[in-house]
Amino acid sequence: MSEEPDPFSTRPHISVVVPCYNEEEVIEQTIVQLVAFSQALPNKTVEIIFVDDGSQDRTLDCLKHAAMRHPFIRILTFARNFGHQIAVTAGIDAASGDAVALIDADLQDPPEVLLEMITNWEAGYDVVYGVRSTREGESAFKISTARWFYRILNRLSETPIPLDTGDFRLMDRKVVDVLCNMPERHRFVRGLVAWAGYRQLALPYDRKKRAAGTSKYPLRKMLRFAADGILSFSSKPLQIATNLGIFSASLALIGIIYALVLRISTNIWVEGWTALMIAVLFFGGVQLISLGIIGEYIGRIYEETKGRPLYIVRERIGFETEDEMTKP
Ligand code: UDP
Ligand code: MG
Repeated sequence: MSEEPDPFSTRPHISVVVPCYNEEEVIEQTIVQLVAFSQALPNKTVEIIFVDDGSQDRTLDCLKHAAMRHPFIRILTFARNFGHQIAVTAGIDAASGDAVALIDADLQDPPEVLLEMITNWEAGYDVVYGVRSTREGESAFKISTARWFYRILNRLSETPIPLDTGDFRLMDRKVVDVLCNMPERHRFVRGLVAWAGYRQLALPYDRKKRAAGTSKYPLRKMLRFAADGILSFSSKPLQIATNLGIFSASLALIGIIYALVLRISTNIWVEGWTALMIAVLFFGGVQLISLGIIGEYIGRIYEETKGRPLYIVRERIGFETEDEMTKP
């Protein structure tokens, strides 16, 4: 591939994992910045793993071009779009560094902050995660829904999950090994890392606006992502369904007793279609909500038991070993 000898043929100190999906507008800029960052790190070897999550645009061409110029750039390409969290997982699985950093391809997470993360990692922290103190260039809708989401998630979750935290982080090999050994498929990576424990440090930073291109998270993907976070880290929705059932059944019981008492002690009837319909609709609604919640969990159990591979790698470029094309 490249003429120059690979200076990083031994195990790298830092692996940087970058998930990319249709990022042709920004990827060249990202490559330049990440390469500059890697070369400026004193006494550290770096590998950069770009995971191309089934892009249909020129993203992969740009990446291949960069990999020819820089031996420390590696590329995994997926056979189709598997989603952000799976792309991150594949990158983590393929990383061989003593520490692994996760960063988005759109330069919203500034590479300079990685320096500070590395310093803290060297000082003994096993995970240094970025907390978004400000968010620039995102819609009020996105910012407020994200704000609410993290607070509700934290309320419901059995594991405390840090607020306003994305996947931008640096993790020690110990933590990476824990993640690699988690077979679950609906992956909410930031939650899995929180679950792992060890010494974790929150590092506030200002999240920039996208350097170019548009968000690859439409509302549909955002909702799926939020559901993954809540359903994977909490079984409280099931309790909420039960409580809702108890609450509505109690209401009905009060109504029945009221009607009976009226009937026995007076000769007034509780009458009318309206009362009946309201009761029927109310119970129908409660039952459907509860069934839906139970269905979500059963769906997940079904997915887990199928045991399909989490992703299919089409190509591995720049890695030393060409084995292990899929992960069970
Ligand atoms: N991404 C991906 N697969 C997807 C969607 C997104 O790999 O199906 C990547 C995307 O290229 C980016 C990161 O995930 O590097 C975060 O996505 P984006 O910036 O669009 O999300 P936002 O910042 O708008 O929440
Ligand atoms: Mg982004």
